Amino acid sequence: MMLLLVMILTLVSASFLFNNQIDKLKKQIDIIYFGNFVPVLKLNTVVNSYKDLIICIENNNSSCSMLKYKKIIDKNWSYYFNSYKTESERAVINAVDDDLRSSFDGKDPLKFNIMIQKVTFLIDYEIEEAYKQRKDFLSEYKDMKEYLFYNIIAIVLLSLGIISFIIYSIIKKDNQLTVLNKKYKLEAITDSMTMLYNRNYFDTIFDNLPVISTANNWASAFIMFDIDFFKQYNDTYGHDMGDKTLKAVATELKKYFNKEYEYVFRLGGEEFGAVLFDVDKQILEQCLKDIKDHIVKLNIEHKESKVASHVTISIGAVLYEAGMEISSNKLYKKADENLYKAKQSGRNQYVM
Ligand code: GH3
Ligand code: MG
Ligand code: MG
Repeated sequence: MMLLLVMILTLVSASFLFNNQIDKLKKQIDIIYFGNFVPVLKLNTVVNSYKDLIICIENNNSSCSMLKYKKIIDKNWSYYFNSYKTESERAVINAVDDDLRSSFDGKDPLKFNIMIQKVTFLIDYEIEEAYKQRKDFLSEYKDMKEYLFYNIIAIVLLSLGIISFIIYSIIKKDNQLTVLNKKYKLEAITDSMTMLYNRNYFDTIFDNLPVISTANNWASAFIMFDIDFFKQYNDTYGHDMGDKTLKAVATELKKYFNKEYEYVFRLGGEEFGAVLFDVDKQILEQCLKDIKDHIVKLNIEHKESKVASHVTISIGAVLYEAGMEISSNKLYKKADENLYKAKQSGRNQYVM
C-alpha cells in the first residue's frame, strides 16, 4: 500500500514538474518571439532617420549633415542585414541594400521617400512573420503538451498495472502459504481416518486443561468413549466394516460436540475422547446421556454384542473444577477408571 502511494505520488509530481517545465519553455519562446521586435525597432530607426533627413533637407538647414543620418542608418540597417534570413528574404534584402547604398548618391528626397516605403514594407513583413511564427509555435506547443500528457497517463497506467500485478502475486503467494500452513497444521493434528483431532493434539489440549480452566474460572470435562465388543464386531463384519463403523461413531461424536470450546479426539483404536471447557455437572450429565443414545440411534447392527443388537459405547467422564489441585495425568486415570467401571457394570452406559 505504502509502495503504491509513493509510486503514485512520484508519478504525479513528475507530471507536475513536466508541465511546469513546458510552461517555462513557452515563456522563453515568447521572449525569443518578442526578440523579433528588436530588428523591427532597428528598421524603425532607419525609417525615422530618413524622415528626419528629408525634413532637414527641405528646411534648407545649413547645419544638416547627411553623414550623421547615413551613419545612424548604416548602423541600424547592418544589424538587420546581418541577422539570419531565408534565401528568398535574402534576395529582397540584398536588393534593398543596394538601393540603400545608392540612396545617398546626392541629396534626393524622392530617393529617401522610396527607401522609407521599402523599409516600411520590410517592417510590415517582419511583424507579420513574427505573428505567423508565434501561431505555429503555439500549435506545436499544444501538440507537444498533449503528447506529454498522454505519455504520462500511459506511464501511470503501466506503473499501476505492474504494481497491481506485483501486489497481486505477493498476496496470492501469501494466501497459498497461509492455506498450506493451515493444511499442514491441521494435518499434523488430525486423525486421517476419522478426521477427529489426533492423540498428539489431545495431549496438548489435555495437558493444559487444568491451567486453562483455572485461569478462566471454568469447570471443564474430560470424557472417554469406547465401543463395546468391537473385537467381535470386526470378527463378525470384517475389518473394513469395522473402519466404517469407527468413522460413523466418530462423525456422530463430532456432530454432537460441535460448539466452541468443545474438542473431540481419537485417542487410539476404538477409543475416543472429548474435552469440554466451561461446562457444569448438569450439562455434562445431559451430554453423556444424549451421546450414548445418539450412538444407539445410529442403529448399526452388531448381532454378536452381548449388550444389544446394535453398536453401543461405554463412557467414563470426569469434571475438573477451577482451582482443583490435580494433574492432567491423574485426571486421565480417573476418567479411565470410570470407563472401566462402565464396562464392568454392563457397558452401554456412562460413569462420571
Ligand atoms: P470392550 O467392550 O471391552 O471394549 O471390548 P472390545 O472388543 O471393544 O475391546 P478390545 O480392546 O478387546 O478390542 C478392541 C478392538 O478394536 C481390537 C481391534 O481389532 C479393534 N480396532 C482397533 N483399531 C481399529 C481400527 O482402526 N479399525 C478396525 N476395524 N478395528 C480396530
Ligand atoms: Mg478399547
Ligand atoms: Mg472396546
